[in-house]
Amino acid sequence: MGRIVYVNGEYLPEEEATVSIFDRGFLMADGVYEVTSVLDGKLIDFDGHAARLARSLAELDMAQPISHEELLAVHRELVARNGIDEGLVYLQITRGNPGDRDFVFPDPDETAPTVVMFTQSKPGLADNPAARAGIKVISLPDLRWHRRDIKTVQLLYPSMGKMAAKAAGAGDAWFVEDGKVTEGTSNNAYIVKGNRIITRELSNDILHGITRAAVLRFAAEAQMEVEERAFTIEEAQGADEAFITSATTFVTPVIEIDGVKVGTGEAGPKALRLREIYIEESRKAAI
Ligand code: PMP
Repeated sequence: MGRIVYVNGEYLPEEEATVSIFDRGFLMADGVYEVTSVLDGKLIDFDGHAARLARSLAELDMAQPISHEELLAVHRELVARNGIDEGLVYLQITRGNPGDRDFVFPDPDETAPTVVMFTQSKPGLADNPAARAGIKVISLPDLRWHRRDIKTVQLLYPSMGKMAAKAAGAGDAWFVEDGKVTEGTSNNAYIVKGNRIITRELSNDILHGITRAAVLRFAAEAQMEVEERAFTIEEAQGADEAFITSATTFVTPVIEIDGVKVGTGEAGPKALRLREIYIEESRKAAI
């Protein structure tokens, strides 16, 4: 693809970018990440992603290796160098390469974190007929660790969830714990009943979605009621609408859960309206 990527302060052709086999991201999944969408060549919700990154690092006792200003500058530089109009910037920070394998964290004064960023071009990200048509989801037990509020690169179980969904002819899976939906494999989950948007409250059980925060704000502004509580798969199947949110899917309707149609079985008007508002407002606020 011939991308220019960023590794530890350098801009390099992707073929020349390397990370050590002793990097703790590789050996221990000891790293965090963020994904920021790009529309019209500009960054969506950048400040939210930067703030969550700082929190993820702090929760794992990792130092912040790059300032907010520098982070923004690198994001912009990568978007420019790779000519991204619609797509995303992926960022990953690991605890670095201590030169050997050991469970114990290395001394941060001796081992610098590894910072990697790259772009993905995704033309048609916003104006996506498939996303507007909605997706089917299946439910799966939530077997992830219990600090889902930290955005770590431990993505094996979510990957397995996506594979199970694909095998079942669905677009994604919703995880269920103690009888209630936590979230999707890579998105937050919602149902709509009447004028009310219902989504699980924030805790260590779910990732605190940056898109979630914006969509709940826009929902309230659009005179929709917002209720933050957990719900079951049965309640979701009987709801008027369902949808997911994430940085790259924005707001995407869910039309079927475990083979049961939600509402009419077509993308719901509230979800589509929220998608429209989110994309419109995000474009205006993009930097
Ligand atoms: N939950 C999980 C498990 C995720 O991986 C993601 C996407 N990173 C989200 C929710 C949505 O978060 P955001 O809106 O910040 O992309």
